[in-house]
Amino acid sequence: MLDRLFSMKNSTREMLFRAFTLLPRPVRAAILRPIVRSARDKLERQSTPSRLILYVTDRCNASCGHCLYGRHLNPSERGELSLGELERLAGTLAVPLQSLVLTGGEPFLREDVPAICRTFDRANQTRLVTITTNGIRTGEILSAVEGILRTCRLRLNTHVSLDGMKNTHDRLRGFTGGFDKAVATARGLRELQHRYPGLNAVSVLTCVCSQNLNELAELIGFVRDDLRLFHKFQFVRSSQADVWGLGPAILSDFSPPNPDCCIQDPAQRALAFELIRDSHRLGKETLLGRRQALLLEHAMRVALKHERAAECLAGKVDGVVYTNGDVAVCEMTRPFTSLRKWEMDFGKAWSSAEAASRRAQTRRCACTHPCNLSTSLSYDLAALLDLSDRTR
Ligand code: SF4
Ligand code: SF4
Repeated sequence: MLDRLFSMKNSTREMLFRAFTLLPRPVRAAILRPIVRSARDKLERQSTPSRLILYVTDRCNASCGHCLYGRHLNPSERGELSLGELERLAGTLAVPLQSLVLTGGEPFLREDVPAICRTFDRANQTRLVTITTNGIRTGEILSAVEGILRTCRLRLNTHVSLDGMKNTHDRLRGFTGGFDKAVATARGLRELQHRYPGLNAVSVLTCVCSQNLNELAELIGFVRDDLRLFHKFQFVRSSQADVWGLGPAILSDFSPPNPDCCIQDPAQRALAFELIRDSHRLGKETLLGRRQALLLEHAMRVALKHERAAECLAGKVDGVVYTNGDVAVCEMTRPFTSLRKWEMDFGKAWSSAEAASRRAQTRRCACTHPCNLSTSLSYDLAALLDLSDRTR
């Protein structure tokens, strides 16, 4: 539901949202209730996910100790799905595909990223594509983004990762000059927004870890005042430490190569949370700012209580396809099949006995993964009402 709102032009979405918040709560509830009911009814008939996370490469030109996916990067054999295989995948997904997230590795190391976007744009009328980049290959990234915007109808969101001020960022990336390049990429993307209305959002994404905690306030100020970009956050996490209610046989092996990056001390986590929430509250008039604050609050609640904040829709609304075609309901659980086994037919893989069994196994688990939490909250009436309360 929120995905649909977020695939709108930013100014239109925020205008609609502001008007909505002016209505009394009972009126908002009366409007939202049938919308949520109908969205949930549709879910039951949905044969493939409306929100797909697609790993396009395992290659990366950085080597971050806090990388959740670090153990899988730069394998000796590539095994990446070819463009032809991705075309076959796109042709077996329901139309329209609400949201496609391209990730990796560094997605822009794949030269056919614009062609991949065109494939989903044409085959699935994909409304929103989101790409997160480390911003190191500034020239290539800007020209690939232009290539997408010139040839696709979709809206594009780009997140440039900044994980600290200059020295910390470069130390974390294992790459000198990474900060300057990422900043140049972020500025270049912001410039492109003037020319291409399809470039919906340019944001900075920070992965909060023990190494950048002490300069988080400085980084927040830099992104807000110097770059003037929206700032998103995630906490470094691992599937072993941040998922509750699942056994090791099902959990994925996602965890940072350097375990010291995880913030173990609850008091430190709470401090970082307060900092981030305050920074989002500066944008409390916007849906974007409020959604981020609400997501953080829910993530903190899950981390404290080890219980779900709302029904998890991984395996229904959300799905994951890895670089080699493996399929999972979410990134915190192991893949349950490979698309190559099904000749790239996603519909068949998603309705297989293996998929049904994984959905049954993940009926009660809880985790703080922001992507899945965001989907859950967008189908939850109480959360949507909370989001639109002007007193937040
Ligand atoms: S966190 Fe991003 S930039 Fe760093 S190694 Fe992982 S994929 Fe590459
Ligand atoms: S709560 Fe959802 S996203 Fe988290 S591990 Fe369970 S199924 Fe995956």
